[in-house]
Amino acid sequence: MDIQMIGTGSAFSKRYYNNNALVYTDDFTLLIDCGVTAPTSLHQLDKPLSEIDAILITHIHADHVGGLEEFAFRMKFQYDRKPVLYIADTLVQPIWENTLKGGLVQNEWQQLEDFFEVRPLQAGISTQLAAGLTVELMETPHILGKQSYSVYINDHFFYSADMRFNPDLLASLVQDRGCTVIFHDCQLQSPGVVHASLEELLTLPESIQERIWLVHYADDRDDYIGRTGKMLFLDQHQVYSMSELVRTNG
Ligand SMILES: [Zn+2]
Ligand SMILES: [Zn+2]
Repeated sequence: MDIQMIGTGSAFSKRYYNNNALVYTDDFTLLIDCGVTAPTSLHQLDKPLSEIDAILITHIHADHVGGLEEFAFRMKFQYDRKPVLYIADTLVQPIWENTLKGGLVQNEWQQLEDFFEVRPLQAGISTQLAAGLTVELMETPHILGKQSYSVYINDHFFYSADMRFNPDLLASLVQDRGCTVIFHDCQLQSPGVVHASLEELLTLPESIQERIWLVHYADDRDDYIGRTGKMLFLDQHQVYSMSELVRTNG
């Protein structure tokens, strides 16, 4: 499995785009989140929307769902296709009512299912999306009163999406579930408030830090290179194989 962040920036980053990912297996491509900048980034990567087999959404913020209207319209008009949409069952109604309906609704199209092949996921249950690709949504804390999910991929790769600092969860993933690679959102300046801050992440034991790749960072990230303990910044648009992301032996 390979992974390529089409963006690694924080919600308001202008340099690194929204924190969205392409996950590749031999014959399947999954887009994790589709923010405002996703269509532009995919265009720059020369990646036609038709090559994306499914989208998975973690939560409803524009840097994670703001590109879905364009995605839906272009798939319908350019390719006459409904993209497969994996989303937590709890978010199926809100993503239509609160985010997409305003732009997408017209005479004969009145519901999410008119644009997407919707496949609701239940948190805590691992689902096989394709050969060599399983995902499990984990509800994690991000914004009070808003449901948000991280993703556990292939039972060893934790993709935080957006979450507050949660050291107990990270420790349990590593100790109890054999997690080898963590992509973690990172607010460079404290306090983190709705994300883990770099300062908080630096309090983690080295055995956890060496599994962490930092994403969802602000435009001044280069000022922090060399100041991230055992953690490393992931680069936008670079394709990483899973094996090169593992930096630990145990
Ligand atoms: Zn975000
Ligand atoms: Zn968010």
